[in-house]
Amino acid sequence: MLNHTATTCPYCGVGCGMLLAEQDGELCDTLPLTTHPVSQGSLCIKGWNAHAFVQSDKRLTSPMIRKNGRLRKASWEEAISYTAENLGRIRDTHGSDALSFLSCARATNEENFVYTKLVRSLFGTNNIDHCARV
Ligand code: SF4
Repeated sequence: MLNHTATTCPYCGVGCGMLLAEQDGELCDTLPLTTHPVSQGSLCIKGWNAHAFVQSDKRLTSPMIRKNGRLRKASWEEAISYTAENLGRIRDTHGSDALSFLSCARATNEENFVYTKLVRSLFGTNNIDHCARV
């Protein structure tokens, strides 16, 4: 049986309305939501393919850490500790503006707001940007 769920495209701040189709527990298609007040039944190419990455075998399913030039899988605890230690070390050694941060188009406005607070308050820099460029 095919099920459809109305949702918001996760790729950029336009926030187009879409229907995700699911069959046997797997996402299988994306359709435009014709009643959505912003997109009014339209999606760009990224939106039309929004379901594709979910089942992709190229999708990262765990954090990766590069050491001595090689990437290897890591646990979330190890990756978060590694990142926190090294961001703190760089800030303390070279100053806050030696750091820069990139936010995510798939994060919500609220998540991005919290992220800017973390970057500006904890790390003391305004070097923050966002990848939502359609
Ligand atoms: S990526 Fe495309 S479909 Fe998705 S919200 Fe942005 S404009 Fe709309």
